[in-house]
Amino acid sequence: MVFWEGYVSDEVMGIFAPIVIYWLYAGFYQLLPPLDEYRLHTRKEEEEKNLVPLSKVVKGVLLQQLVQAVVAHALFLQYEKSSVFYVSRLTSPADETGITIQPSIPIQIMQIIIGMFVMDTWQYFAHRYMHQNKFLYRHVHSQHHKLVVTYAIGALYNHPIEGLLLDTVGGAIAFLVSGMTARTSAIFFCFAVNNTAYHDVHHQLPGTKYNYSQPFFSIWDKILGTHMPYTLVKRPEGGLEARLVKD
Ligand SMILES: [Zn+2]
Ligand SMILES: [Zn+2]
Repeated sequence: MVFWEGYVSDEVMGIFAPIVIYWLYAGFYQLLPPLDEYRLHTRKEEEEKNLVPLSKVVKGVLLQQLVQAVVAHALFLQYEKSSVFYVSRLTSPADETGITIQPSIPIQIMQIIIGMFVMDTWQYFAHRYMHQNKFLYRHVHSQHHKLVVTYAIGALYNHPIEGLLLDTVGGAIAFLVSGMTARTSAIFFCFAVNNTAYHDVHHQLPGTKYNYSQPFFSIWDKILGTHMPYTLVKRPEGGLEARLVKD
């Protein structure tokens, strides 16, 4: 049982819930002035260092979410029709009326963990490759790095090709490999909000060769030696700063 049962389909939830959560989460950080205490950068720094205006970031993110919604819709449609191709159909077959039988909660949790691992693995290597390949960096990934001061809403501000390759394809593969149903995916995709301070290091000039991992864990950075720890230091003028800890 989920709270949206009987109101909207799992597919609609899977497509729209992550978008709603994204804007709620980002809007929360963007708009509330009392949160200045916890900001990683001052508003002044934000205006001086960033090379793109906020309005452009918002438009870019909306475009990417549109692409994601279209791909998710196509995936769910396929999934409805297919009976053997998808792993999900093995763990959660449809009953006689064609309604998907949801797997047990432990299985759903395991599918979410598998999905997280698949998504992290995909994104780590694709992201790292975008830095190693000069052509891809210059023409694609550098757009995301125009944000030296990360906006909460900037997490999805990417070149459209990067958005498609990293986030959309990564999400689709995680969904297919883990075998989760549309219902589980609605919850899974809402979790994909990354660790702000960890990723902030990657956006600072000395930190660009570190902390590629996103959106969930930093396993691959740790295994492959690209992990850069940080400490949060209080700024005299208020707010926090993520400082690299080099050994
Ligand atoms: Zn990067
Ligand atoms: Zn980033």
